Order: sequence, then structure tokens, then C-alpha cells
Amino acid sequence: MAESDRRLVQTAVIGSAASGMGIVLPQEADELRRLRRRHPTYTYWCGTQLGGCGNKLSDRLYVDKVCHFAHAPNASCHRKANGANSADHLFIKQDLALWARRSGVDARAVLRDLGSGPGDAVDLRVRDSRQRVRFQFRRLTHPEWRSAREELERDAASLDWVFGPGSAHPETMEEMYETFGYVLRFRFETQGVARRIRIRAEEARRSTDWVPLDACAMTPEGLRVPGVERRRRASPRPGVGTSTGSPVNLPVARTLRGGTAPAQASDVPGREPSAVAPDPKSTTGADRRAGRRTSPLVRKVQRLVDEVNVLVAAADAEVRTKAERMDREAAAWIERYGRLTSSDFWSGKATKVAGHGDALAGRLEKLSRQLK
Ligand SMILES: [Zn+2]
Repeated sequence: MAESDRRLVQTAVIGSAASGMGIVLPQEADELRRLRRRHPTYTYWCGTQLGGCGNKLSDRLYVDKVCHFAHAPNASCHRKANGANSADHLFIKQDLALWARRSGVDARAVLRDLGSGPGDAVDLRVRDSRQRVRFQFRRLTHPEWRSAREELERDAASLDWVFGPGSAHPETMEEMYETFGYVLRFRFETQGVARRIRIRAEEARRSTDWVPLDACAMTPEGLRVPGVERRRRASPRPGVGTSTGSPVNLPVARTLRGGTAPAQASDVPGREPSAVAPDPKSTTGADRRAGRRTSPLVRKVQRLVDEVNVLVAAADAEVRTKAERMDREAAAWIERYGRLTSSDFWSGKATKVAGHGDALAGRLEKLSRQLK
């Protein structure tokens, strides 16, 4: 029985011990049965990228308690993190790579072992512009953070920190508020057998809404989260961060159209077209299609609508009606998204619209899964 496996292992990697494809096992028996039916060839491993022993795991199905992964009875494993959040670094690594590609940014996401395992931190490195974004999972003391910052800033044109739950020391947060006026945070939400990151900016008294990665953008000044104004109050490192010493006033969530090098775009701050904040004049169908081409979230919704429309052809009338309703909702949402202006990103309106799009994408994904 499960006695040999005292801790419940809830995550694994798929395919091989060295795989980077994480999975969270569904806790409900019905969901696990569905997963087995859908992916009968999946093999699960206590992956090395999870800090695991590299042994094979089996998926244990229970109806009276939560399902979980289990080692073979004689396996010896010293993996430290086994909970549902223990593969989050793998999910964000994959999502960052996709997000960068969709945004036309040449970047690489790498896992950083800071002493307790491969999930301590994930760094996004933008190649040409030498920009860095650090997603910090493991808690850092203030001196540790300072030395990590020095290391990362050494050859970086911009550096953003995004902190996971409990990973920032209060003194570090103080210093972030002092320098930027806010702290970027992340958390994860479980979606089926994966987990997806949500990011927000926290100021001393208020926070923006949690948004998906697709609502954020890489700009010449660094990572932009909707509803946030970058305010670098002091420049502790010359040549790092924004080039102006005074507060900058830039539309947020700007990014570059595919293929443009970030360094070139910084010549005209505040004037670049946006991947997320569409052109204010985008009211024609053609412009909306252009918006669809540049916004990963819009493209995702459109792709899912197309997918559902194909799959639903063979479904019964009730499901077809549901799909039609979602199709109309998606069309209205895309139009609404296309009408957003830069000022909407300041007011937080864009965050709400992006949140709606994200929720809609989630429902479309669910319907698509049901139809498959
Ligand atoms: Zn193991």
C-alpha cells in the first residue's frame, strides 16, 4: 500500500527521468480515469528536474482518498518538494519559452538551483537586449537577494524580479518599493493537469489584478504588467534599468512586433506599437485582425474558437448551442480588446478585459477537452 511512500507525491514529469514536461496528477478518481483514457502511453517519473530520484512512478487511483503518484516499494527518494506546486518551475519555464516566441522575443528560460533544488528560481534571458527577468521561488534572505541581484545585473540591460509566495524578505520588499514603487508577485492556478502563472504588481496600499503571462509584455524597459507605472526612484547601478534618472512615463504592456530588436525600439520611448495594448485606432476588421496577429491572448482565444468549431460539428444540439454562444462571446471580446487604448492599461480596465479573455479561453479549453 501507500505506507512505503509516506509523503503524497502529486507531481511528476512525463516520458523520462530527465524530462521537463511536468504534470500534476488529478486528485479525483474520475479525472484520473479520464487522463488514463486520453493518454494511455504516458509514463511518469520522479524527474531530476523536480529534484527527484529519477525512478519511475505509478499513478495510484483511489475513490475514497486523493489520487497520487507512488514510487516502487523499494525505491529510496530524497526529493524535498512533492506537493501540487512542486512542478511550477517547469510549467513557467515552458510557458515563458512559448510566450517569448509568440511575442517575437528571442529569449531562453533556465532553471536555477540556488542550493535547495532545480525549482529555486527560473530566469528569463532575452538574448540581444541582455534583459533578465528572475522568477524567484525559494525564499531569499536580504543579503542573498542583494548578491543575486548583483550577479544578475552584472551584464544585464534590465532586470525584473517576480517573487513567489513568501520568497521575498520584508527588507527586500522595502528596497523594491523604494526603487520601483511596487513589487511584482506571482502565484499559480491549477488548470487540469498543469498549473499556470498569474502575475500582479503590489504597491504599499494597492495591487493590480492577477493576470496571465499573455497579458504581460517584454519592453525595452523590462517586464510590463498591465496597470503598473514603472517608477525607478533611484538608480543604484549606473547603466542598469531605465536610462533616464527621472520617473518614466510609459504606456505599460508595450512590446515589440515580431522580429524587432528591443534595443532599436527604445529609441522612441512610449511610441512603439503594442502587442497587448492595441493601437487606439483599431476599429476596422482588418485592424482587429492585425491585433489578433500581435496579441498572444487574442490569438489563443481565436485558436480555441476555431478548434471548438471543428470539434463541435459532431456533437449534439445542446453542445453546439453552447459552442455558438461562446463563439459570439469570443467575437465580442476580441472586438472589445481591440478597442483598448494605452490609457486603459493605466486605469486597470485592460486588466479586467484581459481577465475576461483568460477566463473565456479557460472555458473554451474545457469544452475542447470534453469534445476530444
Ligand atoms: Zn523519487
